[in-house]
Amino acid sequence: MTSVRVDSAVTSGTFSLDGETFDVDNNVWVVGNDDECIVIDAPHDVDQILEVVAGRRVLAVACTHAHDDHVRVAPQLAESVDAPILLHADDLPVWRLTHPTTEPDGPLVHGGRLAIGDAALTVMHTPGHAPGAVCLYSPELRVVFTGDTLFNGGPGATGRSFSDKDVLLASIRSTLFALPDDTIVHAGHGDSTTIGVEAEALGR
Ligand SMILES: [Zn+2]
Repeated sequence: MTSVRVDSAVTSGTFSLDGETFDVDNNVWVVGNDDECIVIDAPHDVDQILEVVAGRRVLAVACTHAHDDHVRVAPQLAESVDAPILLHADDLPVWRLTHPTTEPDGPLVHGGRLAIGDAALTVMHTPGHAPGAVCLYSPELRVVFTGDTLFNGGPGATGRSFSDKDVLLASIRSTLFALPDDTIVHAGHGDSTTIGVEAEALGR
């Protein structure tokens, strides 16, 4: 069995919420071996994501949360690779803003595990940026995929509908800062960082 690795691409497009639209670059992360993979988030451009998938079997399209810049092409991608879309149930109201007529295929449940080859992603519910925001942690890879919950430089935004700053900070401190300091943080936007660097900057 080939070992599990992380591949990625950066897509460009927009994020819209509360009647405003912004230009954004999004990271799409693909965790897998030579045979199979899991796609984390489905931003902007199916072809760019398929290039990273590179013909491998896609086990799931796992959405860190349902803001439109993270899920806009999820149905199209899921159909083209025949994989289920997974999203925490608390983000269904946010999902329906972008996809009123399509539902995700299954839930991401806190404590659940998504196996890929000889590794796995553990689902951690980290509400705050969005009510159903999750982080996906792999102890084997020493990596956590944080979506928009924690960036290089601090917590995600909480100025818009469905967000709550106190809830976000509690999620980060209780769940993410409990991970080992050398855990690499791959976020939904921008450069990667580590738990230790961000915990030092924000305070535990
Ligand atoms: Zn977001």
